[in-house]
Parts: sequence; C-alpha cells; structure tokens
Amino acid sequence: MTQIQSLSQASRLIAAAEAAQRRAYCPYSRFPVGAAVMAEDGTIHSGCNIENASYGLALCAERNAAAAAVLGGKRLFKVVAVVARLARPCGACRQVLLEFSDKTTRLILVHQAPRRRIETTSLLALLPKAFNPREAGLRRARNGGL
Ligand SMILES: [Zn+2]
Repeated sequence: MTQIQSLSQASRLIAAAEAAQRRAYCPYSRFPVGAAVMAEDGTIHSGCNIENASYGLALCAERNAAAAAVLGGKRLFKVVAVVARLARPCGACRQVLLEFSDKTTRLILVHQAPRRRIETTSLLALLPKAFNPREAGLRRARNGGL
C-alpha cells in the first residue's frame, strides 16, 4: 500500500522539491536537483544540491533534505520527492534515505527532460540488497529502517 495519502499531499511535496531545486548551487554541472522528504507526521523538509570547486565535496539534494528532516527531529520518512532533469538518487543517497525509511516509504521521481514525467517507486526497488543495519546486527535507536 502506498503512503502517498493524496494527490494534494504529493503535489505539496513535489512543489517543495521544485522550490528547493530553484535554490540549487550547481555552477559546475548545471544540473539542479531538489528533494523533499515527508516525515511520518506529514512535515516536509527539503534540500538542494550544493556543489564545490573541489568536486568531491558536492552535497546531494536528497542527503540535504534528509539532514534537514533529521535536524527537525524526524526519523521516519514516508515519501521522498526528487526533481531533476533525470531524477535518479545516487547510491549514497539511496543508502542514506534507507536509514530513515520503512517498507512503505515511497519515492516520487520527477524527471524534467526530455519531457516532464513522474515515476513512483520504492527504495527497495532502487537499492536491492542494500546494506541493512538489521541484517548486519547493528542496534540503533528507534527510527525507520527496513
Ligand atoms: Zn546523491
């Protein structure tokens, strides 16, 4: 069952990701990305990519959104929206999002080129056989996690 409760909820989340995308700092790649996380309580936390002249220091929109949510005290993400020309979270972001997700967490990927297209999927679909803290026998405080 999807956790996307309503079309308006999904629209609000996508709008937040699009607003974040407009704030992206990406002078090197010119590949702006926006992301927004809807936490278990319905609050929305967003982030954009932030590049650096030292390329390896770039920060992804998805991880920035996750950081904003965690800073806001959230530990379980229900829906994550990503907006970009090609909205494909990198492997690192998939693993970080997994940390705060459960089996019902959904992703809304808004691809903007060559034409706008919306794809919904799950972290499990994007990151099969992920490093799973539970399987690894790692204890952690209460939060999401598959
Ligand atoms: Zn990433």
